Amino acid sequence: PKPSADPPATTVKSYACQRRTPLKHHNTFLTDALEILAENAEFNENEGRSVAFRRSASVLKALPHVVRGMDDLKNLPCLGEHSVRVIKEILEDGTSSEVESTRQSEQYQAMKALTGVFGVGVKSADRWFREGLRRPLDLIHTGQKLNLAQQAGVQYYNDLNRPVTKREAVAISHIVEKAVNAVLSGAIITLMGGFRRGKEVGHDVDFLITHLEEGAEEGLMPKVLNWLEEQGLLLYQKTTRNSYLESKDGPARPPHNLDRFERCFSIFKLEKGKEGSGTSLNTSYDSGTTEGITGTTEQPGPSWRAVRVDLVVSPFSQFAFATLGWTGSKLFERELRRWAGQEKGMSLSSHALYDSKQQRYLRANSEEEIFAHLGLEYIPPSERNA
Ligand code: ATP
Ligand code: MN
Ligand code: MN
Repeated sequence: PKPSADPPATTVKSYACQRRTPLKHHNTFLTDALEILAENAEFNENEGRSVAFRRSASVLKALPHVVRGMDDLKNLPCLGEHSVRVIKEILEDGTSSEVESTRQSEQYQAMKALTGVFGVGVKSADRWFREGLRRPLDLIHTGQKLNLAQQAGVQYYNDLNRPVTKREAVAISHIVEKAVNAVLSGAIITLMGGFRRGKEVGHDVDFLITHLEEGAEEGLMPKVLNWLEEQGLLLYQKTTRNSYLESKDGPARPPHNLDRFERCFSIFKLEKGKEGSGTSLNTSYDSGTTEGITGTTEQPGPSWRAVRVDLVVSPFSQFAFATLGWTGSKLFERELRRWAGQEKGMSLSSHALYDSKQQRYLRANSEEEIFAHLGLEYIPPSERNA
């Protein structure tokens, strides 16, 4: 090693999937500001700008120290001119005028409130904003036509905007385990998303369900939902025969098994202070499951609350890819796919990894093997909080 007067500069790799990003870091005062601008760019449907701010924020999350001056930013990747300007302002004045005016703006606040309704995306929120609507209740007062998801979103608005605790996630896990075990023995149920990354609260609870015996998982989703519904535990559900056929950045797909991969966006009714009771085993089910609100007249009271739950069923052959894909964070996933495409000539999805050069799918039985295929050091879930 050559002698140097300066301490070694912190080196940060440029893709988030090459770095370790812990849940708790040293620069929240900067990353919160940059993420407001990222969010606002999303509200304006400017994805490029949004991702640029998110990447900048993510670099700062990976630093092992507090950023105290502009010198600390030397040699850091991904920091665009705009982000640097915002950071400089905060370091010098304590706040950024652009961030503060965004935070205060009517558009940002209305978009935040309206997109905070389950089932409402940026496009609808923006249309409503331009029609003069500002708050979720305005949707009711002005008699807007809402789809079933949005109706549930308005109905359970308060509960769904209250963070789900780890404790509640565990209680939901027990219910999901009970439901799955009632209709299929030997299934494996894993907690995904933020809770797998070590978060203490989340906006929902994510589960991935599989079975060691390939094919045993087929048709599982409607059975599980039927069981939950019979127990009165479902307030809303919508299953989609996934796929990423629709998604533009996930062309990788295995040659078969596609239509077995199902997911369900749901709202559970969680009893407070105890787990769901009732053990009646009923295997008769209606396979024609569609979207529906089960308890339209029910309102959350002192004895229960509504919780958003995502369920995904994966055949065992795709389990490692599904695990990696549903653990997040969203930026980490995006960066993994970008790395695969730009640096490796591969295409990664929650189903498969395709190597364009070899023109074949690369198999994997674990997340470690996928990282290895991609030529990346393994990053454990707790350090994927990019
Ligand atoms: P939170 O605590 O807010 O729920 P989270 O990281 O769990 O944070 P989610 O939105 O639940 O965020 O997403 C969890 C994972 O599932 C992420 O990796 C995300 O990429 C993936 N995911 C979420 N929605 C979809 C979707 N519609 N299609 C494919 N993957 C998705
Ligand atoms: Mn989640
Ligand atoms: Mn989710």
